Amino acid sequence: MRPNSTQEFHELIRMAHGSGANEVGIIDAREVPVLDSLANLCGETPCGAFGLGKNCPPHVSGPDGFRELMKRMRYALVFRIDVPEAVMFSDDRNEVFGLVQETVAAMENTAIQMGYPDSKGFAGGSCKTIFCHDHAACRVLSEQGTCRNPTRARPSMSGFGIYVRELLEKAGIPPDKRNVRQDDQEPMTWVAGLVMLGGTTDRR
Ligand code: SF4
Repeated sequence: MRPNSTQEFHELIRMAHGSGANEVGIIDAREVPVLDSLANLCGETPCGAFGLGKNCPPHVSGPDGFRELMKRMRYALVFRIDVPEAVMFSDDRNEVFGLVQETVAAMENTAIQMGYPDSKGFAGGSCKTIFCHDHAACRVLSEQGTCRNPTRARPSMSGFGIYVRELLEKAGIPPDKRNVRQDDQEPMTWVAGLVMLGGTTDRR
């Protein structure tokens, strides 16, 4: 089931585009593809951040937890931001991942205000690497307090086994690089964000 209209989600779509999203799509929450094998890659091929923050495995609920979340959700809003490959191979990649984390966090908050109180944002990268690289440890995991960046940091889709390429395709968004080249043919890649919209509301 798709929403009858994107009108209701105009503000969320505007926010995504405001952060540079090239494409935005909305599908039924139950259509989000989740694979245990993808989540397992976090532990098998550590990215350097495995276990360092509370938003990364093994500290997140993983595919099983996400499947439970899906039962409470109505819609999945996904967006793609096109980025030059050179940027993602540079030190600037954390700025890009930080932008995605901040965007889905802000959209999550807006979705809650719209009447979807259980909404959750998901991004890419590790919040420990992106926001807390100057700190020795995640403040939550070290039991020193709450998250230093509660309005910015959100979990990576990787730790939940979300198959992002298929998710984009289901939302009608082409993930193929050939579709995201600039006129000057600079090699491009993409990053994606996801906001799960759900919860009870008097508006529906
Ligand atoms: S304190 Fe830092 S590392 Fe820990 S969850 Fe928050 S942003 Fe991530």
